Order: sequence, then C-alpha cells, then structure tokens
Amino acid sequence: NGGVTDTKNLRVKLVLLGDSGVGKSCIVLRFVRGQFDPTSKVTVGASFLSQTIALQDSTTVKFEIWDTAGQERYAALAPLYYRGAAVAVVVYDITNPESFAKAQYWVKELQKHGSPDIVMALVGNKADLHEKREVQFQDGIDYAEKNGMFFIETSAKTADNINQLFEEIAKRLPRPSP
Ligand code: GDP
Ligand code: MG
Repeated sequence: NGGVTDTKNLRVKLVLLGDSGVGKSCIVLRFVRGQFDPTSKVTVGASFLSQTIALQDSTTVKFEIWDTAGQERYAALAPLYYRGAAVAVVVYDITNPESFAKAQYWVKELQKHGSPDIVMALVGNKADLHEKREVQFQDGIDYAEKNGMFFIETSAKTADNINQLFEEIAKRLPRPSP
C-alpha cells in the first residue's frame, strides 16, 4: 500500500488528480526528469515514475508516482487509482475556473473515500500564464486552508515551485514511531 519502510527511508504512493489538460503529467516529468516538452499533447498511456528526495534531517522519501492515462475522465475508475495512496496532489489550471471547480470535486471525493490519513496538496498550475489568470491565488489558498490542505502555485513550464511542492509534501508525511 502507500506505506512506509522504516523511520529514515519512507516510501509513499502519490497520485495526481485533476481535469485533463491541467498539467499533471508535465509536473511529474519536470520533477522526475527536469524536463518540459511544450509540444506534448494530452497524455496517452499509463505511466509510473519514482523519485527519491532527501530531507534536511537525512530522511529520504521515495515517491512512487501514479500518473493517470486519462482516467480522470472516468470518475468510476478513480477509487482504484487512489486506493492506498499516502499522498494526493489535486491540480487545477489557474487560467481555467472549471478546472478549479473540478479540483474541489476531487477533494470531496478523497475526503469521502481516500485513506483517512492521506496528505493532500492543492496545486494551481500554469502560474507562468499570469496574463490569462482567472483563479486568484487567494481563492486557492482559502479553499485549501478550509480543507486542511497544503497549497502552492506551480509552473511545470518554468519549473517554478515544482521541487518545493514535493519537499513540502515530504515534510508533512506522518512519521512512523521508531
Ligand atoms: P494532464 O492531462 O493534466 O496530464 O496535462 P499535461 O501535463 O498533458 O499538459 C497539458 C497541456 O498543458 C500541455 O500542452 C502542456 O504543454 C501544458 N502545460 C502543462 N503545464 C504547464 C505550465 O506550467 N505552463 C504552461 N504554460 N503550460 C503547461
Ligand atoms: Mg496526463
């Protein structure tokens, strides 16, 4: 499951949820490979990637990242995907208010059916497109605070806040007792 191995080396299942096209796959590729491919079309095909980060206290966290192959279009399949996840990253596009509404739907879904101790992050992606912004930073942070989530705005294109997103999640993971 999304469990842990020992006190110094954590291994966690992380899933991304959110509308198709908000940049979930690009966030993962930026984090894991340091790349952004502007010509990539909406993702097809499942993918599984992992990336390990080290924290200041010498803990390592191995993220096992499940990226959807468009299952976000089929709400009925979602529980299979987020089952056992220790972390859910719910993504919207700051230029697209519908994607923000959909993110709120996913948060409610996870509250109802996700693991009770799941760590949830709300991510406003495409922050580089500030001239097209339609979802205000304050609206994102207000919603996240009400729901006990960590909030951040990112850009997979410029890499802004991508590593910070995963570092902040790592810091919030429940630690096993020694
Ligand atoms: P997914 O369906 O949520 O996995 O979305 P993708 O990762 O496939 O990205 C969808 C589209 O958004 C692609 O054309 C990306 O190039 C674009 N995109 C993703 N992230 C960003 C970003 O941070 N800024 C900008 N400007 N475009 C992005
Ligand atoms: Mg994708």
